[in-house]
Amino acid sequence: MRKKIVAGNWKMHFTPTKAAEFAQEMKDKIDTDTVEVVLCVPYVSLQSVQNEFKGTHIKVGAQNMHYMDEGAYTGEISGAMLGDMGVPYVLIGHSERRERFGETDTTINLKTLKALEHGLTPIICVGESLKQRKSGRTFSVLRKQIAFALDELTTSNVSKIVIAYEPIWAIGTGETATTEQAEEACAFIRSNINTRFGSTAADNVRILYGGSVTADTAGELFAEPNIDGGLVGGASMALTFEKVVHFGR
Ligand code: PEP
Repeated sequence: MRKKIVAGNWKMHFTPTKAAEFAQEMKDKIDTDTVEVVLCVPYVSLQSVQNEFKGTHIKVGAQNMHYMDEGAYTGEISGAMLGDMGVPYVLIGHSERRERFGETDTTINLKTLKALEHGLTPIICVGESLKQRKSGRTFSVLRKQIAFALDELTTSNVSKIVIAYEPIWAIGTGETATTEQAEEACAFIRSNINTRFGSTAADNVRILYGGSVTADTAGELFAEPNIDGGLVGGASMALTFEKVVHFGR
């Protein structure tokens, strides 16, 4: 039985002070141990939000990391640094990073391996563009992204990772994939992992749907057999996030 995850992505929103205030306002509403609640916040807010969530079940994650431990990489943050801060989750390869910051399938693989080395759980984001979907390439895109991201991972590591299926056309657009589209893609990802890493890894890996999830759509999406929760942007920065978390229970 896979425990569901409801992960929020605050993107580049909230100052550390505002982030702590919002965390304080939300914590009693979203604190539960029946679903894993993770909030991925900007680096500068990691500590203030961690402090607010102390003593709760809510976990704080980062939104990116570098694949080297240290070095002349001005402006970057390493997995070693996040691990030292006690950060358990990190988003890897969010489409905004792929599209706007030149992330490639290769860097995503290096980051995934490095995150695991430092005991961080990577939430690896994959998903097709509208053009790719319209031209019938959704599954070949997903196959390629998964193949690269999981290169050189062991079967036991694959059991630990989280994959977020995030169709690019649904992120921040208000256009959610239909429940059937989301389940079909998540089922495809699981069967791809089954073929490559075997049934234990496929049964254990948690696959989330992300893309304009709201309190109105979460219930139906999270009830699907291959959707183990959600990666939620906009709705994780509003009081209705409580309702989204509720559907993961
Ligand atoms: C995201 O940031 O990963 C995301 C899915 O955003 P939104 O829920 O706003 O579409």
